[in-house]
Amino acid sequence: MNQRTTPPPTATQPLVSEHASLLRLVANSVPALMAFYDSDTFRCLFANSAYARTFGFNEQTILGRSLEEIIGAEAAQAIEPHITELRQHHRSARYERQLDTAQGPRWLDVQLLPHLASDGVLDGAFVLINDITPRREAELALRQSEERLSKFMDASVEGIVFHENGIITDANLPLQRLVGYSLAELLGRKTLDFIAPDQVPRAMAMVAQRAELSYESALVHRDGSRIPVEFIVRMAERGGQSLRMVIVRDLRAALAQRAHIQHLAHHDPLTNLLNRHAFMERLAEHMAGSRSREQQGALLFIDLDHFKRVNDSLGHVAGDLLLQTLAQRLTAQLRSSDLVARFGGDEFVALLPGALQPSQVEDVAGKLLAALAEPVLLEGRPISVTPSVGIALYPQHAGNAADLVKHADAAMYQAKRQGRATHRWYDPLFSQRALAALELETQLTQAIARGEFVLHYQPQVRAADGVLVGCEALIRWRHPTRGLVEPDRFIALAEELRLIVPIGTWVLGEAAHAAKRWQQAGRELPVSVNLSSLQLREPGFADTVQQVLADAGLPGRLLEVEITERMLMDDADAVCATLARLHALGVRVAIDDFGTGYSSLGALNQLPIDRIKIDRSFIRGVPQHAGNAAIARAIVMLAASLGREVVAEGVETEAEREYLVGLGCPLLQGLLFGAPTEGAPFRA
Ligand code: C2E
Ligand code: MG
Ligand code: MG
Repeated sequence: MNQRTTPPPTATQPLVSEHASLLRLVANSVPALMAFYDSDTFRCLFANSAYARTFGFNEQTILGRSLEEIIGAEAAQAIEPHITELRQHHRSARYERQLDTAQGPRWLDVQLLPHLASDGVLDGAFVLINDITPRREAELALRQSEERLSKFMDASVEGIVFHENGIITDANLPLQRLVGYSLAELLGRKTLDFIAPDQVPRAMAMVAQRAELSYESALVHRDGSRIPVEFIVRMAERGGQSLRMVIVRDLRAALAQRAHIQHLAHHDPLTNLLNRHAFMERLAEHMAGSRSREQQGALLFIDLDHFKRVNDSLGHVAGDLLLQTLAQRLTAQLRSSDLVARFGGDEFVALLPGALQPSQVEDVAGKLLAALAEPVLLEGRPISVTPSVGIALYPQHAGNAADLVKHADAAMYQAKRQGRATHRWYDPLFSQRALAALELETQLTQAIARGEFVLHYQPQVRAADGVLVGCEALIRWRHPTRGLVEPDRFIALAEELRLIVPIGTWVLGEAAHAAKRWQQAGRELPVSVNLSSLQLREPGFADTVQQVLADAGLPGRLLEVEITERMLMDDADAVCATLARLHALGVRVAIDDFGTGYSSLGALNQLPIDRIKIDRSFIRGVPQHAGNAAIARAIVMLAASLGREVVAEGVETEAEREYLVGLGCPLLQGLLFGAPTEGAPFRA
């Protein structure tokens, strides 16, 4: 190789050129690092500022320095082979090396280029360095992220699959397990091949959106089983390619959990039957559907009779066991298409959908009654509870679920009232009556406290001369909206509710105070009060009367009580004892509505009775009405022979009066002498 003979430029004799300043301008404008080294000594003859700064110098201080001084001994040694090559064979070299700087490591792309003079002699070495750190870092980051992704894919419990245009390029182990295929079997296959056929159109639509999204779908396992999954689709760059990454989440456990929660929300935990809420929902659905299909159905409302007794005597554990057993029997008796629910407590309902004949429904009700009434062994004891069943039909009885249940419930209530252990059909008339009765019941309960009762007094006169000798107190209810209500409209209800006892006590007190006022006004007029059998049977009734008299300061002789024949028959001994005590107080006793009952004349003789009131039905139309005339006469004669007084009730006409006077009936009462009126039955 030719070596130049003229001495090379040195630090003290820098590169001289007319273009030196231009060269420097250019050199400092390019983003590269540049230097020129003398080929013999390998000392720096030129460096642009980027080169000089990179190695801790400036453009001046770097001049004349050896390579070793500039880039360090280690680096210089490392590139020694390249320099040897350059010197001996004028060969250029290109290599990369890492440079540690205060700002961290940098990656340099170095080119070593021989510079030959025009005579072909090696003149120097030109060094061109490009800082490729950003590129290297990006590559590193990519590699690291790929590594991370691989690690993540391996560690993930969820299935992950990569695909490019629907062709699988990678899949992790969980995904392989989820579908039952190895990676080798999956690669290159279409993703759609593994999606349940019914889900394919949706998946294709989702893929077409080319968006990041998630949706529920289903896979088909190698064994053919369907696996519900959620797809979470993400776009991903991998190895320079744009792929779709799909996270495949197995939904089997989540769906089972969801189903379990759903089940809990819709079922009664004790019996596992539907709960009220769920039943009502399904019933409503069913009824909505049935109208269009012209179907019908029957609803059975089942309530256990006296279930509370089991709970109270054997405890809740036994009670629960009983309910569970009965729930099972109920289900066993019904078809699988029937709906059974527990409404809470001891109430069950069953829906029998379909067009059933009433006789078929009756058969089912009968079967249920029999099955439920079978004894259940509780704590070693056979316990039997009977059900009461109410039945309502749709669409005949109700147009919506709430009404249907309400009507079946009303019918069940009716079954209870009619002796339990039986079934009753819903009766629309009954339900109207029941509603009215219910309303009346509520109002009646409050009537005493609200002072809505009032007494009217009807005169009783001596037949011979029409002189006022007594009066009967008759109750009326000043109803807030219905006006004055007659006793026939509410006494029976008051008895049913046992409200008649406090009401009767109020009547006694009110009548006694009235009689007392009249007495104080100079008019001694006995007042007659009607009793209910419940009052008479109330222990301590005589004490109540005594108390009433004492409170009013009324002598017993000014009070009379009216009882009916029926009351005498119910519990003769107790009633006799009570009547005897009333007698002892001076209170008179009359038998009301005489002739309508079946009292034996013999018994009448034994009883402490002062008066007999002939029922007004036997007075009507006498004497023309021959039958009534005969009965009236017989009663008047009987009373006389027994030494009892007689009062004829309901005397309305002069003819009736005349006939009764002719019979020798001593006392008369009726519209002819005065209707019941508020206030004293005489003019003060
Ligand atoms: P009752 O004890 O037989 O009373 C006589 C009924 O006949 C009264 O009806 C009276 O208004 C009616 N009456 C009186 N004169 C005539 C007449 O000339 N013609 C006709 N057609 N009717 C006449 P009211 O007041 O509606 O009472 C009906 C029933 O209610 C009473 O029959 C009695 O059994 C019962 N009752 C009335 N007040 C009370 C009470 O305070 N307690 C109880 N437990 N029952 C009462
Ligand atoms: Mg009466
Ligand atoms: Mg009467």
